[in-house]
Amino acid sequence: MDTEVTTQIKQSVAQLCGDFPGTYWQEKDRERAYPTEFVNALTEAGLLASLIPEEYGGAGLPLSVASAILEEIHANGCNGAACHAQMYTMGTILRHGSEAQRKEYLPKIATGELRLQAFAVTEPTAGTDTTSISTTAVRERDEYVINGQKVWTSRAEHSDLMILLARTTSKDKVKKKSEGLSVFLVDMRKAVGNGMTIRPIRTMINHATTEVFFDNLRIPADSLIGEEGKGFKYILTGMNAERILIASECIGDARWFVETACNYVRDRKVFGRPIGQNQGVQFPIARSYAQAEAAKLMVEKAFNLYDAGENCGAEANMCKMLASEASWAAGEACLQSHGGFGFAEEYDVERKYRETRLYQIAPISTNLILSYIAEHELDLPRSY
Ligand SMILES: Cc1cc2nc3c(=O)[nH]c(=O)nc-3n(C[C@H](O)[C@H](O)[C@H](O)COP(=O)(O)OP(=O)(O)OC[C@H]3O[C@@H](n4cnc5c(N)ncnc54)[C@H](O)[C@@H]3O)c2cc1C
Repeated sequence: MDTEVTTQIKQSVAQLCGDFPGTYWQEKDRERAYPTEFVNALTEAGLLASLIPEEYGGAGLPLSVASAILEEIHANGCNGAACHAQMYTMGTILRHGSEAQRKEYLPKIATGELRLQAFAVTEPTAGTDTTSISTTAVRERDEYVINGQKVWTSRAEHSDLMILLARTTSKDKVKKKSEGLSVFLVDMRKAVGNGMTIRPIRTMINHATTEVFFDNLRIPADSLIGEEGKGFKYILTGMNAERILIASECIGDARWFVETACNYVRDRKVFGRPIGQNQGVQFPIARSYAQAEAAKLMVEKAFNLYDAGENCGAEANMCKMLASEASWAAGEACLQSHGGFGFAEEYDVERKYRETRLYQIAPISTNLILSYIAEHELDLPRSY
């Protein structure tokens, strides 16, 4: 259920999105170009600073509002993936940084003067097994020296700062493998060309994702966030918000697919009548609508728990899984309803279809969510 605040914010987001029609996204997609104008518009409207507390220059709004913003962006055919990290990645600094770090960075992130879009956790060898990462940070006097490689570091070329997870104590010297990992806030403006190299990866969607190489990158010791060795916990605490917000984007995608499909099948006449009159065409759309509505309830449950400061691990995981499956079902129904025209770029269906598929894999794949539910909710033995 939308509140008065979320209804109002959705209206202003929808208005802003009106300036970025399908043709805008088609061009960006074709050229694999970053939607700078769209990101600037969201930044200027203060929407990306909604979660930053007022004392640090943000709007101090709850996650429910951030969820509404991202849902509406996607429901209007746009894509928040170019900048959603600016909304929630700062949570690592907010929750675990020092007051000096909060004061130095958060107000500038709130205005957009500093872009914190890059979140470097995944590595090519470790994959989902995050505690097996091999990027290291070695303390040398008042610096850390970073060596290693990250993959799928999205938006790195469009970011001033990076949240980096690296190993500070080798695995064989810690009791648990989740220990000995640390989080750093890296100033990319100084790092690129001085030990950090970014290489874009061309992907199925326009996602500005990259691989990042660290070759003796030296960063000041005060780049460390929180305590050395506790980084894995810090990363985990941010993941619930991320999953809930990605689920919100999926709900937005599902709304777009269902509306686009319905509009099309009402108008398109084959055999002398609208194709939407056929149950074979109606049912997949109706089913995906029901799936999305159910997933939305789980998103709401998750953000209500989150905003109340309660544990929402299971709900955040479940809502991400259910919403990503609902948006995919809606995408399938929409594409199928469009027949051949679903493949034509100008209808936007094929683009949204490709885009929404990502969320069954990133930021965490469905299998790992099912493993989480099995282990933590059903008390079954850990499978990995
Ligand atoms: C476009 C894009 C953008 C991304 N952006 C970022 C980013 O900004 N920052 C970042 O750090 N990462 C990012 N990622 C990485 C993303 O989070 C990972 O791709 C995702 O978590 C899956 O990890 P993996 O690719 O290493 O797959 P793997 O871990 O290799 O897994 C491959 C497959 O095997 C399955 N699998 C693995 N282990 C098990 C198991 N024990 N049981 C059952 N199934 C299993 C998985 O479910 C998956 O389907 C991005 C990825 C993509 C594609």
